[in-house]
Amino acid sequence: MGKVIILLGPPGAGKGTQAKKISEKYGIPHVSTGDMLREAVRNKTELGLKAKAAMDSGKLVSDDIVLGIVKERLSRSDCKKGCMLDGFPRNVSQAESLKEILGERYNEVVALLVDVDENILIKRLTGRRNCLKCGAIYNIYFSPPKVENKCDKCGGELIQRDDDKEEVVKSRLEVYKESTLPLIEYYRNEGKLKIVDGSQEPNLVFEKVVQLLGL
Ligand code: ADP
Ligand code: ADP
Ligand code: ZN
Repeated sequence: MGKVIILLGPPGAGKGTQAKKISEKYGIPHVSTGDMLREAVRNKTELGLKAKAAMDSGKLVSDDIVLGIVKERLSRSDCKKGCMLDGFPRNVSQAESLKEILGERYNEVVALLVDVDENILIKRLTGRRNCLKCGAIYNIYFSPPKVENKCDKCGGELIQRDDDKEEVVKSRLEVYKESTLPLIEYYRNEGKLKIVDGSQEPNLVFEKVVQLLGL
């Protein structure tokens, strides 16, 4: 049984960016509750319809919906060799549930905080663009694609998430402070917290992450 890596940090810290690098290089599955929820919304599944209103306004989707998807995903065979949780847990109650779900595997948990100063988050979030086809992450200010609105990797169209518009970004940052920030102390107390400075260039952050996680 491999490590269970929990990526912690505010919206826009670079969790997804680092997760994709780790997943590409080490083959560890990237389990992003945000990506899974957005897919459900796009496919208009029952679960997606339930989650949509909360997501549009930058609030958290209910714990039972999210726990359902996470449980199902973690039970698949590819997660046996380890996995990376991105965007989950989002509050202390989800963290307690995760502990229960993992049982013995909880010993393998490492929580990695991608730490960045609040004042750069707005630009990272409002400048974020994602490839519709392959999920690659860009930023119009910090890491623009070679051709405007086109993915360097697959030529797919780049779009801005609805919740990356400035009005919603502010409410997401509030929700983070209120609900998710306490998880830093939670995992510190559990003796599982590691911290990486996420303000540097993505490849430098990646080097540190690899060292910290012992990959
Ligand atoms: P999160 O998953 O934590 O919300 P993302 O990985 O999607 O964050 O990154 C948010 C935005 O910031 C994206 O536009 C991404 O290209 C950009 N970004 C990520 N890491 C860095 C970094 N180290 N320096 C500058 N910009 C970054
Ligand atoms: P980011 O990585 O930019 O912070 P995510 O993609 O993780 O954003 O999440 C987008 C939205 O999906 C959140 O604002 C929230 O509505 C919903 N969401 C994702 N993960 C969870 C979770 N673990 N619990 C509740 N809601 C979630
Ligand atoms: Zn692409």
